[in-house]
Amino acid sequence: MEDTSMDKPSYDKINGHDAEWTLQDPLKEDDPEMYELLIKERNRQKRGLELIASENFASKAVLQTLGSCLNNKYSEGYPGVRYYGGNEVIDDIERLCQKRALEVYDLDPEKWGVNVQPYSGSPANFAVYTGVVEPHGRIMGLDLPDGGHLTHGFFTEKKKISATSIFFESMPYKVNPESGLIDYEKLQDNAKLFKPKLIIAGVSCYSRHIDYATMRTIADENGSLLLADMAHISGLVAAKVIPSPFDHCDIVTTTTHKTLRGPRSGMIFYRKGVRKTLNNGKQVMYDLEEKINGAVFPGLQGGPHNHAIGAVAVALQQAKRPAFRTYCEQVISNAKTMSDELISRGYTIATGGTDNHLILLDLRPIGLDGNRAEKVLEAVSIACNKNTCPGDKSALKPGGLRLGAPALTSRKFINNHFVKVVEYIHRGIQLTQEIKAASGPTLKEFKNTLYNDPNFGDKIKVLREEVEEFAAQFPLPGETLP
Ligand SMILES: *Cc1c(COP(=O)(O)O)cnc(C)c1O
Repeated sequence: MEDTSMDKPSYDKINGHDAEWTLQDPLKEDDPEMYELLIKERNRQKRGLELIASENFASKAVLQTLGSCLNNKYSEGYPGVRYYGGNEVIDDIERLCQKRALEVYDLDPEKWGVNVQPYSGSPANFAVYTGVVEPHGRIMGLDLPDGGHLTHGFFTEKKKISATSIFFESMPYKVNPESGLIDYEKLQDNAKLFKPKLIIAGVSCYSRHIDYATMRTIADENGSLLLADMAHISGLVAAKVIPSPFDHCDIVTTTTHKTLRGPRSGMIFYRKGVRKTLNNGKQVMYDLEEKINGAVFPGLQGGPHNHAIGAVAVALQQAKRPAFRTYCEQVISNAKTMSDELISRGYTIATGGTDNHLILLDLRPIGLDGNRAEKVLEAVSIACNKNTCPGDKSALKPGGLRLGAPALTSRKFINNHFVKVVEYIHRGIQLTQEIKAASGPTLKEFKNTLYNDPNFGDKIKVLREEVEEFAAQFPLPGETLP
């Protein structure tokens, strides 16, 4: 009889051992336990109202690229100069991503370069500091309780919390506790004394435009570099619906998964070419390119996440389309509706409103705090974050909630839907008041009443079911599970 085993290798037995791995089974069959969890999470996302300002729903095309063979490839180095073979296609992908990144933000490739390898926003920022600030060099960023980000530096009396404050010296600037607006005058005074190497213009919870021109002036007065961290707003900048930081900054970092609606990743844009021409005609050149690229690799990272870089390229192409501008306009319009509706119900919004994708709801005037309201809203399937409000004394008792419109707008929520969303938020806050009145003074007692008191159990259930029924009508983008 003819032996066909050479033509058709059998994986049933290799050297007499079972070898049943086909690597081809769908997740559902390969790992039913994980599959169940994915379905659970997908359903949670579908029936909830997602108001976390940093979140979004990536498209199917983005998720397909993310879950592709690009995950398999090692490519340490940069296009054309890799430490591994087989990177012809990966080089094309990274170059395409870079090209689209510059195009989306209207940047001249003679004047700007971009590194698309940072694994996320935090590593992108740390790479910038590593590249352009010497160890224990000085950095100024907006204080965390005032709307800044941990990576801009954070420390308490007891402890340096952020690595930015451990390996560099950070000094915060703040918002005015009454107006909630960035106090540029105080920043100017303190920068004169502190002489930072780097000033950061960037926010995680701030609903107004940043005055990049003023920050440029302050940076120039002190010989500082100006970094814009546009992590939250990079989609809105791409869509040109808010001011761009590129006109005024030396370096711009961003995440790609917030308003930009891509995969979780990061990018660093840096100026290159002529920095200035001296009186004697001599040209001073930027030296950021080598410093920043060297800090990302080989300084801090190893192999680039090519699946993420490919997916960023897809998101950037989407961001160039008119539909993305429509999306971003609607994000801002929805955030304004949320603000207006809350104000008309008697609530206080920090800074009095919003120019972007988020609002900061100040609960202190109604005797509540963010901790309690966040827990109740979570129990009724409304996701948002507690956040400190301007003038808050303690980060342990944040006075408000950060509410963002990007995610629900990706689910095609428009203004009248957000009117409904505000009604649900309002009912959740009323419940918070009731529960607070019925429980002891501590947060622990509050949670005990919230989760265990049957009187409130029913009320929570009624509201949650209404919220979920409403939310589930809106399709979830990017569905990839069978
Ligand atoms: C979200 C955010 C980051 C960090 O991004 P990760 O991807 O979570 O590391 C950095 N800076 C700002 C301003 C952010 O809002």
